[in-house]
Amino acid sequence: MLFLPVDYDEPLFRPPAEAYSAILQVSLGCSWNKCAFCEMYTTKKYKIRPLMEIEKDIEGLFSYYPRIKRFFLADGDAMSLDFKPLKDVLDSINRNAEKRNYRLQRVASYALPKNIISKSDSELKELRDADLKLLYVGIETGDDELLSLIKKGETYKSTVEGIQKAHNAGIDTSIMIITGLGGRKYSEQHARNSARIISELNPKYLSTLTLSFPLGYDIFRSKFRGEYIPQTTKELFEELYLFISLLDVENVIFRSNHVSNKVSPEGTLSKDKDKILNMLSKVIADTPFNEMPKNSRYL
Ligand code: SF4
Repeated sequence: MLFLPVDYDEPLFRPPAEAYSAILQVSLGCSWNKCAFCEMYTTKKYKIRPLMEIEKDIEGLFSYYPRIKRFFLADGDAMSLDFKPLKDVLDSINRNAEKRNYRLQRVASYALPKNIISKSDSELKELRDADLKLLYVGIETGDDELLSLIKKGETYKSTVEGIQKAHNAGIDTSIMIITGLGGRKYSEQHARNSARIISELNPKYLSTLTLSFPLGYDIFRSKFRGEYIPQTTKELFEELYLFISLLDVENVIFRSNHVSNKVSPEGTLSKDKDKILNMLSKVIADTPFNEMPKNSRYL
């Protein structure tokens, strides 16, 4: 049986790139919990954990892995904590590393733009100095109409404001876009406006995942405020192609290694743009026109 030094409140999620990080739950669930496509925390009631409990977990993690390099703060949005409790958590992690005579590489968490905006510039800089170096922001799309249809609770403007505020404080971001988010009807505006927002933000990391329905298509459709027309696999690849082709960025590390993706192009954009587009062209050409993606198994 696998021994874990902390008693996690499940389900527990982390980005693929945090596979080797110590996961520390500073809050449970998601402070927003309304996105139409997201089932991650629907079984959890959002709450911030008391510092005493978090510190016990920090000590448990360090006693089991004495030289932890990276921490990931779970659950859905550690930036929902006010500045002071969040700084207390980071200070506690750093004290434990210092006691063992080394320095952490980084602390990361998911974040919503609105919860970045709620911190002042100087607070964000203090968090960065305390090793909060990377925020994963699932912006999902840069299209305002689609953001409203999926109940994201953000707009193009709030997303840019929040992410630029993090960048100005020296905090890097890893941004997620969901292929197929709006179905056939909204596909082109989704690809175009997502490329526009990414080009404006130029994040350090960019990833794409594909819309899927872990609890069933009907639940998604009941929450989506527009007309959702499922796309074929070919159309999903074409949407991804359009999105990548319109990106105007420099040194953005692009990955698509999420389990929901059927192919996983990767590289540094824009250097590897042609290579990625060529790969996608071949995939599009080889895909039967009527093949439906696996996520349509509930249709
Ligand atoms: S903000 Fe993130 S975790 Fe919360 S409901 Fe939306 S997608 Fe899910």
